[in-house]
Amino acid sequence: MLDKDSALVVFSGGQDSTTCLYWAKREFKKVYAITYTYGQKHSNEVDQAREIAQIAGVEWKLVDASFISSIISGCSLTDTSVEMDKEKPIDSPPNTFVPGRNLFFLSIAAVHARELGCMNLVTGVGQADYSGYPDCHDSFIRSLNVSLNLAMDEQFVIHTPLMWLNKCEIWSMADELGVFDLVRDKTLTCYNGIVGDGCGECPACKLRRRGLEQFLMKTRR
Ligand code: ZN
Repeated sequence: MLDKDSALVVFSGGQDSTTCLYWAKREFKKVYAITYTYGQKHSNEVDQAREIAQIAGVEWKLVDASFISSIISGCSLTDTSVEMDKEKPIDSPPNTFVPGRNLFFLSIAAVHARELGCMNLVTGVGQADYSGYPDCHDSFIRSLNVSLNLAMDEQFVIHTPLMWLNKCEIWSMADELGVFDLVRDKTLTCYNGIVGDGCGECPACKLRRRGLEQFLMKTRR
């Protein structure tokens, strides 16, 4: 029997999943976090994840999912020879898309959650701002939730608190949760591996900064 008061957060150490981690801490009695290595170029995101999990006081597990990078090519997050798409191509996801990433991450998380006796899974995916990634869409998450429950005969619930929020609203949520400064200073969202405000040039930095500027303007800071 899974515990409905506990949650496992898929946690990368970025802005979105850190906001989700603190959201989960507010919503559930017991919170765990799981972080993956998947052959990403910037493995220092793992260091940020470890540190934030420690600050948050949650049990943290690091899992090696680097088989993902061994079965794909052409992804600019895992292959140093591929130059990153600056804009999203019209007819396909940008080459920062890691095919199957959320499928594997959530499936592995569910198996581990079953081991922990944990009913709830939390992921920071969303389709408001960056719908170029099909595995961030609500329809995929709902479908996977059904499949995972069928696969293990369990009643997992996948929570996506950021699904319909834009970056400005995600900053606002971090602020409400009392972790605005922690998210701003300690998280790593930048595709070039620079912590906090990042390189300022990559698509992830631009998106993050635009949301931050909107939030700061709105709150007159
Ligand atoms: Zn950047």
